[in-house]
Amino acid sequence: MVLNNFALIAGISPQEVQDWFHTAFIDGYDWVMQANVIGMGQYADGGMMASKPYAASANYINKMSDYCKRCTYSPRSRTGETACPFNLMYWDFLARHYEKLKNNHRMSQILRNLERIPAEELAQIRKGAAQWRNEHLHSEHPLPSTPTEHGSSDPTPQSVS
Ligand code: SF4
Repeated sequence: MVLNNFALIAGISPQEVQDWFHTAFIDGYDWVMQANVIGMGQYADGGMMASKPYAASANYINKMSDYCKRCTYSPRSRTGETACPFNLMYWDFLARHYEKLKNNHRMSQILRNLERIPAEELAQIRKGAAQWRNEHLHSEHPLPSTPTEHGSSDPTPQSVS
């Protein structure tokens, strides 16, 4: 869940994620990977397996595990030095795909939370996400919606409301 979630919100190519799972896990069979990674994890099957993308911020990881207790990052921060990368990517993901997700009623509450973030703070979050991505991701085959090394596919910091 943690790996799939981060790949989803960071905007990594779903096919590359599936290829990685294939090579990393001995039980990474095709029939498992396509449903669990492409469908459930990456929401890259057109919504056949899941009715919404299973995207989560650090809040979820903090609730479900004790990982955050010893972490350098803060699961509560989304800007600044200690901003957790899961938070940066999560809000950036929602902003990046706002137009695609706004008609999905299961995303309404989540998108309302996004709309409440002040434009300046959202711009900071998105800048942090682009910086983190630039420093860590190198994809040879990015999908059209995959953020590029120059920032997100929509580089204009903006309010979504
Ligand atoms: S605070 Fe650390 S352990 Fe918790 S979700 Fe963020 S990176 Fe992971």
